[in-house]
Amino acid sequence: MYLHSRPARADKPNEDYVAAAGGTLTQAILLDGAGGPSELPTGCRHGTPWYVAQLADAAMAHMRNPMIGLKSALQRAIATVTDEHRDYSCDLDHPGTPSSTVVMVRHMADTVEYLVLGDSTFVADVNGEIVAVSDKRIDQVGADLRKAMAASPTGMPEHQAARIRFVEHQRRMRNKPGGYPCVGTVPEVAHEALTGTLPSAEVRRISLLSDGATRFVEFGLGLWTDLFDILGSATPGRLFDQVREAEAEDPKGERWPRAKRHDDIAAIYVEGAEL
Ligand SMILES: [Zn+2]
Repeated sequence: MYLHSRPARADKPNEDYVAAAGGTLTQAILLDGAGGPSELPTGCRHGTPWYVAQLADAAMAHMRNPMIGLKSALQRAIATVTDEHRDYSCDLDHPGTPSSTVVMVRHMADTVEYLVLGDSTFVADVNGEIVAVSDKRIDQVGADLRKAMAASPTGMPEHQAARIRFVEHQRRMRNKPGGYPCVGTVPEVAHEALTGTLPSAEVRRISLLSDGATRFVEFGLGLWTDLFDILGSATPGRLFDQVREAEAEDPKGERWPRAKRHDDIAAIYVEGAEL
């Protein structure tokens, strides 16, 4: 098992988060928190790094209950963390309240269960066939604003101004019809997750990835099988290095238009034999 997360910048906290546990019940969780540009308020006194760590802890605890499914475990975890906010009088209805994507995996008996909410990815090698699951509805939101952002070079003030307008719109579309699902302070959003099961005897390897990590495939640096091979090698950190090198070669986002030059990267990798 390998898990690692690397922040986009040394001077900014990491908003991706990974946790995993082995034993009789192998389970893993990956979160990609959305804090947004620091110019925008959130109504929360805790902050996004706190939020993703709390949510991961709560979800890992609820996943240990074999009597409930992953959606219920996530729903209970959101309720747990929402109560924590409430104790500190955070504004739970603020459109900028810390939110996150979630990928959860649990191996129980002869089944691997997965849950995906948002644009992070679960990918499995099932007897040589790739199963990749991600909810990319967020990519359809604010297409015009995204285009305006891509029109100016990443890192320039006009790009940042366009990014703020884009994120403000994204925030308004969270968990709205025609928008996209993301985990925040409303437990029922867990039912929006994509879920499935795989027979563990056929699962050779699995990975949980934030969109910072799937840039490896999206930028064309390699295929899913290449990604698995790197993560399963003696030097899995090469995946992170290769993404960072590609980003550095395209600092202004001309070849690969994107909101942020660098993004937090997170990955968990588990081989079938470890399940
Ligand atoms: Zn809070």
